[in-house]
Amino acid sequence: MSKRDGIGAGTRLVAAGRREEWTQGIVNPPVWRASTILYDSIADMRATGGDTHHRLYYGRRGTPTQWALADALTELEPGAEGTFLYCSGVAAIAAALLSVLSPGDELLLVDSAYEPTRAMARGLLARFGITTRFYDPLVGAGIAELIGDKTRAILMESPGSLTFEVQDVPAIVDAAKARGVTTLIDNTWATPLFFPAIAAGVDLSILACTKYVVGHSDVMMGSVTAGPGHFAKLRQTSFELGQVAAPDDCWLGSRGLRTMAVRLKHHEQSALEIARWLADRNEVGAVLHPALPSCPGHKIFVRDFKGSSGLFAFVLNGADEASRAAFIDALDLFGIGYSWGGFESLATPADPHRALDTPDHGGAIVRLQIGLEDTADLIADIEQALDAFRAVRG
Ligand SMILES: *Cc1c(COP(=O)(O)O)cnc(C)c1O
Repeated sequence: MSKRDGIGAGTRLVAAGRREEWTQGIVNPPVWRASTILYDSIADMRATGGDTHHRLYYGRRGTPTQWALADALTELEPGAEGTFLYCSGVAAIAAALLSVLSPGDELLLVDSAYEPTRAMARGLLARFGITTRFYDPLVGAGIAELIGDKTRAILMESPGSLTFEVQDVPAIVDAAKARGVTTLIDNTWATPLFFPAIAAGVDLSILACTKYVVGHSDVMMGSVTAGPGHFAKLRQTSFELGQVAAPDDCWLGSRGLRTMAVRLKHHEQSALEIARWLADRNEVGAVLHPALPSCPGHKIFVRDFKGSSGLFAFVLNGADEASRAAFIDALDLFGIGYSWGGFESLATPADPHRALDTPDHGGAIVRLQIGLEDTADLIADIEQALDAFRAVRG
């Protein structure tokens, strides 16, 4: 029991990873760039031995700049063993999966998974003899019936990409543990602040740090945080893959992390206000925001999550491609572009790809990332874009 157990998320974010020997008193861990590290003698070179964790060895094994951010992310997940950083969220997903899967194994993948994750299953994993079976995001304890002799891993994402179904992670973890199956989660939407995945029993928790950790739409980065017994394999696989996140990017990641709790609180309040405003409009069908009862899995969200972030979707009633495009094109304060989690608002079309039945939402879906602008301005912008939508839809 350390005296820092039980401290709040904001406090944890400020202190995390800032070891004196790495910062030398500089508040934000500085940039240590390196490829070659020089040794005093051959004896000194040999003394490093096999274990290079938190020891200067060669640039690919990192410097204090990377270690400080990795350690900070570990500290955000109570019970976690360690974190490895990657050059993107997708690279993090690939390394996490390759650290647990071998030829002949089967992966159970949630059917609401992020499209590049699905592409990885169809491409890379299939090419190496790993099969994938998709499961319904609302399967809950029913996952037990899908676990077969070859099932080695379950990759969850909660809420799901584009349609925001909330999964019963504790029930899936229980079923997996009973059969010795490794569990992974893409926790990018909630972050460890709103859903501490390792404490919930998940083995590997993945973040696209590109989103809320960096928070300013200017760096690509990913992380995998491992629960007890899973870090050594993750690190080994990542070294074998030659993975290393750049020190300059990690420095920006550490800088972004310090304000993540404050930003998330603002994203949360603004997104909730806008989601509720949309729910009252007759141009709008279901609002797919986990904190609203219209979102599948809402009750699980209330039970398991400490908060909601700034990304959600909604159905434009009767919208087709053209009328949805008219709505998005008419928005002035929302950018049109991939990614999310930055300070600026974004709007994109959301067209879920499904292996199982695709639910009919009664119109095309729009995904919004609510940034740090004033909500009154964003709502006024959406209101005028709804006028443009009605003009095209009729
Ligand atoms: C963006 C995203 C990723 C991938 O992150 P990149 O840094 O863009 O590679 C993974 N999962 C989810 C849910 C995402 O939204």
